[in-house]
Amino acid sequence: MHPDVSALLAVQNDDLGIYALEARLASLAPRLAALEKERGKVASALERARKAVEAEESRVRDARGRIDTHRQLVERSQRQYESVTSPREATAAMAQLEQTKRMVEESERDATHIQGRVNEMRHEIADLEKQLVEVESRQAEARGTLDADRVAIETEMTAARQKRDATARAVPRPLLAKYDKMRVRRHGTTVFPLRGLSCSACDTAVPTQRRAAMAATGALEMCEGCGALLYAGE
Ligand SMILES: [Zn+2]
Repeated sequence: MHPDVSALLAVQNDDLGIYALEARLASLAPRLAALEKERGKVASALERARKAVEAEESRVRDARGRIDTHRQLVERSQRQYESVTSPREATAAMAQLEQTKRMVEESERDATHIQGRVNEMRHEIADLEKQLVEVESRQAEARGTLDADRVAIETEMTAARQKRDATARAVPRPLLAKYDKMRVRRHGTTVFPLRGLSCSACDTAVPTQRRAAMAATGALEMCEGCGALLYAGE
């Protein structure tokens, strides 16, 4: 085998290693996304519950305001009742007083009811807060592992790229440029040996005179079938 070809094969080997590292790095993304999704479910439920309780708390304030208003009505009716001068007026004033007292009771029941719902919602919120803490602490280890994996792969990647650069120095520039152009397109194995009369990647036959030139000079020829760079084997 021509020394340029074997030097190029060494570069290709390094490149395939880098591609494998890139794939490993990319495979971390869905793992992180799965963690985010799991946490996000609880976090958004908590957000919704907090907004809901805020709305309900404002309804409690409204209900308490109504109780105050109705109590004032009771006081006014009471004073009116105390100042009547005839039995007929007394009957009417009593009826008025009873009615305002019922209004107070009703608004108190309302407020109690809404307050009860607020209390329930606060329990739900406390539950969700607990769940979020649980999810986060359960995920802490997974996130740590993920992060350590990423750092390890990136370290390997830096070393692999340095090694590749060193290996590539043994390959003549034009040959390396030709290879890189095809490699970027294929993002995988690019240099293949001839197998018999054909490209070993796709089995397309290579014309006799081109095969003769490859054997004589160590030149690489592009396969017309698949774009692989072919070299004459042993
Ligand atoms: Zn081919």
